[in-house]
Amino acid sequence: MIYAYTENLNGKYKKSSFEVVSYAKTLADMIGDTVTVITINSDDSPDDLYKYGATKVLNVKNEALKVFDPKVFAGVISQLADGNYILFSHSNESASIAPFLVKEKDAAYITNVISLPISASPFQVKRNVFSGKGIATVETTASKLIITVSANSVGCKESPVQGIQENPQVNLPTDPGYKVESSELNTGKIDLKEAEIVVSAGRGMKGPENWKIIEDLANVLGAATACSKPVSDAGWRPHAEHVGQTGKVIAPKLYIAIGISGAIQHLAGINNSQTIVVINNDPEAPFFKSADYGVVGDLFEVVPKLTEKLKVFKG
Ligand SMILES: Cc1cc2nc3c(=O)[nH]c(=O)nc-3n(C[C@H](O)[C@H](O)[C@H](O)COP(=O)(O)OP(=O)(O)OC[C@H]3O[C@@H](n4cnc5c(N)ncnc54)[C@H](O)[C@@H]3O)c2cc1C
Repeated sequence: MIYAYTENLNGKYKKSSFEVVSYAKTLADMIGDTVTVITINSDDSPDDLYKYGATKVLNVKNEALKVFDPKVFAGVISQLADGNYILFSHSNESASIAPFLVKEKDAAYITNVISLPISASPFQVKRNVFSGKGIATVETTASKLIITVSANSVGCKESPVQGIQENPQVNLPTDPGYKVESSELNTGKIDLKEAEIVVSAGRGMKGPENWKIIEDLANVLGAATACSKPVSDAGWRPHAEHVGQTGKVIAPKLYIAIGISGAIQHLAGINNSQTIVVINNDPEAPFFKSADYGVVGDLFEVVPKLTEKLKVFKG
């Protein structure tokens, strides 16, 4: 049996969940198996999970699991996943759950996977290494395997099956010996990790008071906003927007970098973007080496003009 853990935000499945189910279905077809989804407190319809190939959805409904606790979540998944493969999206959530499962199941662990399996036996796949600077082909003969699939790396392929949903009961620790308190900032804006288009800005913006031009461009494109590390360190933007080696790792279809120099630590978080557009007034800025399209110019002139043109185009 192949298990795919699907994340949800406020009860709704994240887009990356469909990609991991689709991935699991491809693997299932390779080895002649089926896909069972494990999810916790989802309020969403399971129909899209069936559409991408899940034959069974185990949706654990439990008030005690409303607060995210990686160790407890790993315990829940461990009770339900009685097979050789457990698949996750590569995310902060999986990075904190999966290691507990690896130990519990004595499984091999392959993270940041960016290709469909090259072979199922032995299991062979490509993964990102060195903060996205390299790609490694890895192979394991381990009988149990836990993998995390990088978002937007393989995409979703529809493969509809007849599915059923169950709400299994699980045992929870009465007192794990600690208390996790969680608070989530719900701005109602587009989630950066899920966004197809990201408008990102750096120290070239000169100060937080100038961010309206970034938000205007993001609004017209239906994009999420991001920033470089010094910008969030200075408190110009919230830390949740910081991308890079020490921030979020994203892979949108379009990444627009404005007034960002393109340091290696920044690129580590965005170099899997499908198309990169750079706006910078320094033609020697390192970011241009990674750009698909570049505009050499003053961002305070270029960005408002771009927004106006896009508004006209959309109109
Ligand atoms: C261990 C470590 C981890 C790090 N992790 C991260 C990370 O996760 N993410 C990250 O982003 N950084 C990270 N950094 C910092 C990184 O090395 C860079 O210092 C940082 O990315 C630079 O931010 P920036 O491009 O916004 O600023 P700058 O390097 O100051 O670049 C500003 C850019 O704006 C351009 N500019 C200025 N004015 C204009 C204008 N009017 N119009 C157009 N362009 C203009 C300039 O030409 C310049 O290229 C890390 C560093 C270390 C040591």
